[in-house]
Amino acid sequence: MHEESYLQKVRLNATVRGSTSTQSDPKHKEKAVVQELIDLFDFATRLPVSRFCPHCGSELESRAVTFLYHERTWNIHLTNCVTCNPR
Ligand SMILES: [Zn+2]
Repeated sequence: MHEESYLQKVRLNATVRGSTSTQSDPKHKEKAVVQELIDLFDFATRLPVSRFCPHCGSELESRAVTFLYHERTWNIHLTNCVTCNPR
């Protein structure tokens, strides 16, 4: 296991879900991804929300997103640096 950012890893998995699911059993993979997302949500809701980019120091764009899954909801603040990640 690499010590890469857990957040990064799960975000990547969520993004590529469906497009690279041919690598292994899709159903098994989907379940794993769902569990990973739940873990990520639990993790993310406990994170302090940073207001400034750790790379360039610019103020981050922030928006609250609510995720619903089965009986559970998570309120997560997503941040984006418009300097490092221009659209
Ligand atoms: Zn930045």
